[in-house]
Amino acid sequence: AKDDGRDTIRFFLPSMQAAADARLAIEKELRYAIEKNELSLYFQPQVDQLGNIVGAETLLRWHHPEKGFISPATFIPVAEATGLILPIGSWVLRKACEYLKVWEDAGLPIQHLAVNVSPRQFRQPDFVDQVHSILKDTGADPALLGLELTEGMVIDNVVDTIEKMQALKQLSIELSIDDFGTGYSSLAYLKQMPLDILKIDQSFVRDISTDASDAAIVDTIISMANHLELRVIAEGVETELELAFLAGKGCKMYQGYHFSRPVPDKEFTKQLNAGT
Ligand code: C2E
Ligand code: CA
Ligand code: CA
Ligand code: CA
Repeated sequence: AKDDGRDTIRFFLPSMQAAADARLAIEKELRYAIEKNELSLYFQPQVDQLGNIVGAETLLRWHHPEKGFISPATFIPVAEATGLILPIGSWVLRKACEYLKVWEDAGLPIQHLAVNVSPRQFRQPDFVDQVHSILKDTGADPALLGLELTEGMVIDNVVDTIEKMQALKQLSIELSIDDFGTGYSSLAYLKQMPLDILKIDQSFVRDISTDASDAAIVDTIISMANHLELRVIAEGVETELELAFLAGKGCKMYQGYHFSRPVPDKEFTKQLNAGT
């Protein structure tokens, strides 16, 4: 039994050390990623039932000079844990608003540009002021800007959250709950929030055509959203079959590889142009 402990330690330590090292390396390099111009924004179209682009979600990309592409699923959690998400998050918001302004001025049919907001970013006392100044500086139309919040941050501090959401609504900004169904948000809270959109998490959509309980969950979310007069966007739509199921249940907006992967700004501009 004595040896077991040692073996366990021997077995686990190297991998834990490696994970910690990797995290530290990411943190060090992420600090300089903005100034070294390694971050960029991609856009994933959101489409209606006719396949017309109605909006897009802004997705952050990190092109590391040696390591190549690093997924946001890897570096966003590090950024969140270290606080680097604050400068990165405001950079993303500003850059997204700059693109939005360009597309507006070009007369392109963009009705909605969504930006992800991390919990730490949203919790800053001056978050609403920051959004307000970025909108003023860039001249982007606030009514075309959307912010994606997650269920977790919404239940964290209900009073503060609702206050901030109301202030953002005052600015005409659209609010979504991202990854809906994966957290534990209470329906009672949901009703109190000035929300516009529920985004159905892709984990439910993925197995919609094979898993009866996922199909039931998606069905329930859509009908609940319709009753609460919220719009619904289904994420991760990859096949015609999934699209047909969602459409049949009354979901009218979709995002996923079936329509387009996230693409760089030039490519998205082309897609918007094709829709005019
Ligand atoms: P998310 O907000 O849920 O974004 C959707 C993710 O699903 C994106 O991954 C997108 O590329 C991917 N996706 C879209 N369609 C499909 C599909 O049909 N099938 C599959 N399998 N995946 C699809 P991505 O770009 O790797 O981003 C991962 C996560 O990183 C995002 O999840 C979001 O939580 C976070 N993130 C990305 N950009 C930002 C940002 O600017 N700020 C913050 N705070 N988080 C961000
Ligand atoms: Ca999102
Ligand atoms: Ca999502
Ligand atoms: Ca699938």
